Amino acid sequence: MSRIKIEAFVIRTTRLAESSRVVTLFSRQAGKVKAVAKGVGKPKSKMSGTVELFNLIECLLYKKENADLGTMGDAAVLDDYHHIPADTRKFGFGSAWCEILQKTSHPDQPRPETFELTALFFKTLDLSEPGNAGLLFWSALFKMLAIEGYAPRLEKCLSCGKKKKDAKLMISLGRGGLICAGCIEEDEDAIPVSQSAFDILGAMGAGGFEDIAEMEVSPRIGREAAEVILSFASYHLGLPRNLKSFKFLESLGG
Ligand SMILES: [Zn+2]
Repeated sequence: MSRIKIEAFVIRTTRLAESSRVVTLFSRQAGKVKAVAKGVGKPKSKMSGTVELFNLIECLLYKKENADLGTMGDAAVLDDYHHIPADTRKFGFGSAWCEILQKTSHPDQPRPETFELTALFFKTLDLSEPGNAGLLFWSALFKMLAIEGYAPRLEKCLSCGKKKKDAKLMISLGRGGLICAGCIEEDEDAIPVSQSAFDILGAMGAGGFEDIAEMEVSPRIGREAAEVILSFASYHLGLPRNLKSFKFLESLGG
């Protein structure tokens, strides 16, 4: 039995028994971790209130070697980002991020840069206007793609090296970025984008979250940029396109 102290985001909780929960954590030290929080639902539990979605916590993790499920102890909240669950749009996009972490992470494989990215994303989402929640979310996913080495490459045509011209912009999934009209292959898996969406994608890749939170983007252009990012995440990271949180967000209307 090992015992380590971890710092982690709560990315999923499911009820196990009357007062216990199975908690999925995205930890700095050990990547994705599943652990039982015994008795956490009891009002007098010392861990009461710690295993809420989005919380950044510190806790002890007890785990047998090769066991899928550990046990949590001595949990304390480091940050609760409490404006996220208080707003439906922020909640929807925050939940989508948690789903993405679950689906793209593995036990015992730490992702330190993605951990830091999550901290920055939650911090900005917590404090920003709800109207920009989507823009922040898609920027975060763009930045995750960059960490994994799969961000769309937009500077010039990946085939001939020419700088972009504004007639027709195509972003190839397989080749990983901009392909000019002269170089695009027939049947190539590519997404057409407008100049405006192209510029937004560039800004999402280059800018910090504070700048992105201030950007004004029309819903149509935002959807175009989102489609490119989701297609890349699906193609290169194997992310399912039908996340539960996306259905929830659709039900809110845009
Ligand atoms: Zn070209």
